[in-house]
Amino acid sequence: MTPLEQVPLASYCTMGVGGAARFFVEAHDEATVLEALAWAERRGLPCRVLGGGSNLVVADPGTDGLVLRMGLRGVSTRPSRAAVELTAAAGEPWDELVRQSVERGWAGLECLSGIPGLVGATPIQNVGAYGQEVSDTVTAVRAVDRNTRRIVTLAPPDCGFAYRDSVFKSGEPDRYVVLAVGYRLVPGGAPALRYAELATHLESREIRSPSLTDVRASVLDIRRSKSMILEPGDPNRRSCGSFFVNPVLAVEELVRVEARAGADAAMPRWPQPDGRVKLSAAWLIQHAGFQRGETDGPVGLSSRHTLAIVAHDGARATDIIAFARRVRARVQERFGVRLVPEPVFWGTTGLD
Ligand SMILES: Cc1cc2nc3c(=O)[nH]c(=O)nc-3n(C[C@H](O)[C@H](O)[C@H](O)COP(=O)(O)OP(=O)(O)OC[C@H]3O[C@@H](n4cnc5c(N)ncnc54)[C@H](O)[C@@H]3O)c2cc1C
Repeated sequence: MTPLEQVPLASYCTMGVGGAARFFVEAHDEATVLEALAWAERRGLPCRVLGGGSNLVVADPGTDGLVLRMGLRGVSTRPSRAAVELTAAAGEPWDELVRQSVERGWAGLECLSGIPGLVGATPIQNVGAYGQEVSDTVTAVRAVDRNTRRIVTLAPPDCGFAYRDSVFKSGEPDRYVVLAVGYRLVPGGAPALRYAELATHLESREIRSPSLTDVRASVLDIRRSKSMILEPGDPNRRSCGSFFVNPVLAVEELVRVEARAGADAAMPRWPQPDGRVKLSAAWLIQHAGFQRGETDGPVGLSSRHTLAIVAHDGARATDIIAFARRVRARVQERFGVRLVPEPVFWGTTGLD
């Protein structure tokens, strides 16, 4: 294994900013993943895993160490009682897997249509949208445990799945390199219809008993209307999707926010099973005074979604971070809520 040197990362990331990887290798088999980890360790260098680069902001000077681009491919299926066990290698494109599952009539991933990136990243932040999360269907995560350099299989309770979080993201970040993910899907199962906006869209199409294909089509339509799928001609295409996660507050904190919101008492609130309440980061940003499409030099908000920070020609990672800090500071000043960024930052501490 001979890594390349000084490989520019901007074209590997949907935000399209950032410098080069000091060393870079693409792994098409598990042996190369293990070799890459050993190579970096021998040199005392960090080894970072790159998927589709759709949740990543790379610093302008780039990153030290080795970037391991996940290129493992392969999908297998196994019937089991009333379900099908689908296992996909970490380098499989996520939306292709969703499309094929929907076409085969396997329920469980349909609402996750149109999310960019690769399979291996889906457990990292427990990818979710329109009422589904991968933790609803994940049965196993095959990974290299960097502490022991052994291949392990994590069952769902070991993954620490939570809203946009897992053991892989905040619990023990960088401990595991995901090699493959298993999902349990239901052949002939009904689609998940838990999200009001999705139900309304299906109604507008006069579909009363939607199939998985109908749900996928509606999700893609809604996402397209918000520039939340990657399309070449879209002026909002250079983003990481939502830049901040929706804040989840304890009731006492909510009371304080409501007091500050004053006349804005129509603020959306979603009660959570643990008694806390989720707020809409997009609503908070908008009501802190930001408009869709607003720009600050070469960066700004998407013209179709307040929650997406978009890079335009000439944007650098520092511009994105400065703008995101401004958004966060204004929301904090107006509502007393500190927004948490969703993407991962390489070569910079991000907003802190
Ligand atoms: C337009 C747009 C819409 C989006 N919509 C959604 C949405 O609806 N819901 C949602 O949850 N997310 C959404 N996202 C965010 C993003 O697509 C997902 O988080 C996706 O899973 C990231 O996959 P990736 O392969 O691009 O990961 P990358 O951006 O390459 O990596 C993200 C992080 O995961 C780590 N990682 C990646 N692969 C592995 C691996 N095999 N092993 C260990 N660590 C790994 C990386 O090291 C990094 O820390 C959106 C992004 C965009 C651009």
